[in-house]
Amino acid sequence: MRIAILSRNKNLYSTRRLIEAGQSRGHEMHVLDPLRCYMNINAKEPEIHMRGEGLPQYDAVIPRIGASITFYGTAVLRQFEMMGTYPLNESVAISRSRDKLRSLQLLSRKGIGLPVTGFASKPSDIPDLIDMVGGAPLVIKLLEGTQGIGVVLAETRKASESVIEAFMGLNAHFMVQEYIKEAGGADLRCFVIGDKVIAAMKRQAKPGEFRSNLHRGGSATLVKLSPAERATAVKAAKTMGLNVAGVDLLRSNHGPLVMEVNSSPGLEGIETATEKDVALQIITFIEKTAKQHKTRTKGRG
Ligand code: ADP
Repeated sequence: MRIAILSRNKNLYSTRRLIEAGQSRGHEMHVLDPLRCYMNINAKEPEIHMRGEGLPQYDAVIPRIGASITFYGTAVLRQFEMMGTYPLNESVAISRSRDKLRSLQLLSRKGIGLPVTGFASKPSDIPDLIDMVGGAPLVIKLLEGTQGIGVVLAETRKASESVIEAFMGLNAHFMVQEYIKEAGGADLRCFVIGDKVIAAMKRQAKPGEFRSNLHRGGSATLVKLSPAERATAVKAAKTMGLNVAGVDLLRSNHGPLVMEVNSSPGLEGIETATEKDVALQIITFIEKTAKQHKTRTKGRG
């Protein structure tokens, strides 16, 4: 097959591993920088060009679209879908997963366990908002944050009010969440492909820190998931409409709670912690599922 990887940098670990895995299975792998793609929007013959030339027809496209280029990146992916290329994850599902509030609302509608979460836009609503989510301690998260930046643990009501007021003063979007203390500074990254969790790791925060992000000094180890954790991760990915997803769970004393569903999960941490060939499993999934014009939504909705 001829497979495109939409990625800004062919030297990134995940991109490199996908190229290797694809080539090992005899596929033609091309890395395309979505920001270098330009296109016409044409009912009869949609095209994508790069450096003055039209791109060839691809059998499948693997989107690796960073949060900072979601808008343009998903537009390029949608164009591939209009041209009949099979997307590993669809543009609509990626856009959906990038909106954190919308994602939590979709997941809660399906009865998936989540930390109690609230959001508001007016300072006068802060006291009731804090009560609604069960009072301090609270986790306050900037919606635009990644890698744990903008995630604050406010241990008292006073601290919660101050942080929320500060975020509101900056016109930042944020959510307020119950603090799952019993998670003990750990979370679970479940790597879902299709209807299976094919690899999972536990990330543990360094001492004195509650955020387990590897970029914040957390460490990752192989973990065995319970059947409930597996089922929750698969259901969360399916609810978002993602074939491939990194589902982050917290272990609470009332079962697994979904924190986030990531549509471009990195391969380095999970392959290192689990010693599994995740890239190869992605390629074999594409081999099994890719068909021309198989996009469910055709970019709609
Ligand atoms: P980011 O998307 O920036 O990584 P997260 O929402 O994943 O932000 O939060 C970062 C880390 O903080 C998580 O990996 C987890 O360890 C911890 N954390 C986040 N929310 C909660 C919560 N409600 N209760 C306990 N720990 C949390």
